[in-house]
Amino acid sequence: MDFKSFRKEINTKNASVKELINDFFLKIDSKDSEINSYICITKDIAITQAEKIDNLIQNEEILPPLAGMPLAIKDNICTKGVLTTCASKMLKSFIAPYESTASSKLWSSGGICLGKTNLDEFAMGSSTETSFFGVTSNPWDINRVPGGSSGGSAASVAAGLCAAAIGSDTGGSIRQPASFCGVVGLKPTYGRVSRWGLVAFASSLDQIGPITNTVSDAAEMLFAISGKDPLDSTCLDIPVPNYLSDLNKSIKNLKIGIIKECFEHPGLNPEVKNSVLSGVERFKTLGAEIIDVECPRFNDGIATYYVIAPSEASANLARYDGVKYGFRSNEDSNLLEMTSKSRAEGFGDEVQRRILIGTYALSAGYSDAYYKKAQKVRTLIRKDFDNAFQKVDILLTPTCPSTAFLKGDFANDPLSMYLSDLLTVPANLAGLPAISIPCGFDTKGLPIGLQLIGNVLEEDRILNAANIFEIDAQVIKNRPLF
Ligand code: GLN
Repeated sequence: MDFKSFRKEINTKNASVKELINDFFLKIDSKDSEINSYICITKDIAITQAEKIDNLIQNEEILPPLAGMPLAIKDNICTKGVLTTCASKMLKSFIAPYESTASSKLWSSGGICLGKTNLDEFAMGSSTETSFFGVTSNPWDINRVPGGSSGGSAASVAAGLCAAAIGSDTGGSIRQPASFCGVVGLKPTYGRVSRWGLVAFASSLDQIGPITNTVSDAAEMLFAISGKDPLDSTCLDIPVPNYLSDLNKSIKNLKIGIIKECFEHPGLNPEVKNSVLSGVERFKTLGAEIIDVECPRFNDGIATYYVIAPSEASANLARYDGVKYGFRSNEDSNLLEMTSKSRAEGFGDEVQRRILIGTYALSAGYSDAYYKKAQKVRTLIRKDFDNAFQKVDILLTPTCPSTAFLKGDFANDPLSMYLSDLLTVPANLAGLPAISIPCGFDTKGLPIGLQLIGNVLEEDRILNAANIFEIDAQVIKNRPLF
């Protein structure tokens, strides 16, 4: 249910916000055993928050912008006094002692916290299969993955188990699951949203952003969570525009660049390609000017990302040593053994693989060949984008090379799984905003996502184009029923 419909329920139904929120918990109780989108439910917090909104309504006071909206938070984002597990055995009983800036902004905007959603362990993955708390299912076909790593957030939105959610995107983890689940996912410009309280994976790439039913909900969520934060020095001190104000502006003469390289990639599924190309045609009929652009380094993004992200991860995850916090293996008394056992038992395979790759890439004698080289290619990718934005206003690609795959498809082939991030990682490497919106379905009835990439801090442009497309195309007529 999008914000508009939920607001209508608040206004027209003879029910309090508290009662409507309770209905969500009933739905979660009955449906989420099949989907497994939540790791934990925060009923007490939600009821207290809902009562506050009910009081404001009763006293006819001015309501904050997201008053009463039922929201879910990816479980790598700290929520004070609530489990924050990163879907890892390492943090399976970790209660965050403080609140992330993004979530605290949602609560002060009147949002209601329904709970914490499932993810790939420490946000490393593209399928939500590596969670210590079990796999999340795709609501369109429960034999398939919802994408990842914010699979729990995307699945909960698609299944109607919250109105909107936030996720984190290091290499595509908001946009790829949004694409697989037929919802909207927005990764903001690096620095637009504070990372305070987001458990670090790769700090130069991580951003928090919304996963929603509609583009306009994404605009509202982005407005709520953006802005300067003294607790995060990488967070930009630049005013936050009202992302709703330009949403319906005509896109006549908007210059949309089609990145040639990604449509020519052999790994791109033909059904995805055709659906996205019909999306391009739709943009044309809506008045946009379509221009072919070259980004010669675009397809090098994946190799670059899989050096830089694990390198940063290996440093960030060094803090889980069995001493300060998290899981401790208590079988040995020797400090070194205790630490290494804690890490070997507390982290799953994929996390250990990333730590090993990153440690290797950063080690003396190898860092010039791998890490430094990757940083150089990262600069070239950014330059390609800079050149492209000389000619066009926004860029268009598919969000993912394929639609949702079956659970277990890549169980023994992590490298092939990495390839599914081909089209999303370049925006992270360049720090650019990018949105995924549904543009069609494949012959199996699975949703397909189209990605729009904007120049630095030009979220308003991609939101505007996405909104005009969404209204015209009406892709998602019915949510999956189950
Ligand atoms: N799938 C990518 C990875 O596994 C991206 C993850 C993310 O964006 N958090 O690294």
